[in-house]
Amino acid sequence: VAAGLEQLRDKPAETTDGFRMPLWVNTGLIADVERSLERGAEGIGLYRTEIPFMVKDFFPSEQEQTQTYREQLEAFAPRPVTMRTLDIGGDKALPYFPISEENPFLGWRGIRVTLDHPEIFLVQVRAMLRAAEGLDNLRIMLPMVTSVHEVDEANRMIDRAVRELREEGLITDRPPVGVMVEVPAAVYQVRRFARRVDFISVGSNDLTQYLLAVDRNNPRVAGLYAPYHPSVLRALEYIAKEAHKESVPVSICGEMAADPGGAILLMAMGYDVLSMNATNLPKVKSAIRGISYARAGELLDRIHRMDDAEDIHMLLRNTLQELG
Ligand code: PEP
Ligand code: MG
Repeated sequence: VAAGLEQLRDKPAETTDGFRMPLWVNTGLIADVERSLERGAEGIGLYRTEIPFMVKDFFPSEQEQTQTYREQLEAFAPRPVTMRTLDIGGDKALPYFPISEENPFLGWRGIRVTLDHPEIFLVQVRAMLRAAEGLDNLRIMLPMVTSVHEVDEANRMIDRAVRELREEGLITDRPPVGVMVEVPAAVYQVRRFARRVDFISVGSNDLTQYLLAVDRNNPRVAGLYAPYHPSVLRALEYIAKEAHKESVPVSICGEMAADPGGAILLMAMGYDVLSMNATNLPKVKSAIRGISYARAGELLDRIHRMDDAEDIHMLLRNTLQELG
């Protein structure tokens, strides 16, 4: 396996007709970074900052956060590292910041928490900016955004952090900022978001859960959790088109990008970057290297005419098998 991985690592994720698809990774702990580099990842599309928070007994200080973030940025430099601001609530709890709610997935999570606690947001953004000094590869991403005013408020706080640090003598530019599209309401606001930020990234795990009203962690309805549901596919394609109308790049960092069939569809839809867990990156790269961009487009056209998630999934599986 190791030899195969190494061989594949240095080959581009390029279709047989020469279309180049950037493959990035999702990370959490520093251990993910090494595995990602071994597999030839070209950037980090989602660094889940809540993961280092989860293994602590209390909120890490600005200094501590700076060190943690610096490790990710340094290990990946000069490749881009997309740091998501704290995304707690829902299924992600911090032992020292309990949130008890009847319906946590519709409750206080992601940006909702940090906009209510600007001190948490500001310390985190300051730590990210300090960590990135001299490296220039930081990108900041906002989770669970529902409305434009949340983006405006977050942007203002990021501006404030940049201003404060410059006054303190840090040499820093404002990093690219992006919005995650993972709430159905966000799907229909993509152009408005795109005018306010530098990139859009789809969180297809939550978006699928919310579009289908299926808890992503409830085994009883696991059979209904269908990333290839025609409604999910339609939403994904719409997001890419809308972002491109504003000339803003669009990526995906949900599990769908880690499935070779999903990756091929997303490529055909026009996604500019696919970000996935490092384990699946070689499989996705092989699939992309085994198909032409034209063929992927034909596959997408055919899937547009299909009604059923299971049939779509099967067609993708069979197509990939056929291509070897
Ligand atoms: C998602 O929702 O698709 C996503 C990437 O974020 P998380 O899985 O961390 O909620
Ligand atoms: Mg999410």
